[in-house]
Amino acid sequence: VSGNSKTADVRLYIALVHHPVVNKDGNIIASAVTNLDLHDIARAARTYGVRGFFVVTPLEDQKELVNKILEHWLTGHGSTYNPTRGEALGLVKVVSTLEAAIEAIEQEETVRPAVVATSSRGHRQTVSYQRMRQKLDSGHPFLLLFGTAWGLARTAITTADHVLDPVIGPTDYNHLSVRAAAGIILDRLLGQ
Ligand code: SAM
Repeated sequence: VSGNSKTADVRLYIALVHHPVVNKDGNIIASAVTNLDLHDIARAARTYGVRGFFVVTPLEDQKELVNKILEHWLTGHGSTYNPTRGEALGLVKVVSTLEAAIEAIEQEETVRPAVVATSSRGHRQTVSYQRMRQKLDSGHPFLLLFGTAWGLARTAITTADHVLDPVIGPTDYNHLSVRAAAGIILDRLLGQ
């Protein structure tokens, strides 16, 4: 496998997008946050050297919920009960929009990140995992988007700079949970 033996130079951020995503009928909605997604994706992010994990939701009650969970594990009882969980959740930041995540990265890295969408479906000119590893090796910051509900809205995909190849197994079923997709994709991009 080529590239990124030196994860320290890789500047990868991820976003779990709760808006804009689509529902079963293809309408754009804001989905509810799933506690398990936060824990599992944060652990994968920490394991693979991701620099930040943005939870994108415009809904005030959902932002409050995420911040409450973070508080419990970062400073509350959870921080002493299970400190490694807090270490992973320390990567999480809640933002209202994708643009806010992009701006936060730009502030941190002094350059605007390239945005990479993920999808279980094939899209125009998807980029391979090998090519994406090479891009990450360049040291440029990237923001990788994961969808919730029935997936990222078309606008989030068409405005992204790249769309990654879908993860495909040996069957015609490829509807992974976002937690599983994030683990597999991070391993393909950053695994040693
Ligand atoms: N409620 C669902 C759950 O259980 O997680 C959310 C499904 S959501 C459509 C899953 C997200 O994971 C997609 O938007 C995409 O980011 C990613 N994903 C799922 N399957 C994938 C695949 N085969 N290839 C690439 N990404 C995939």
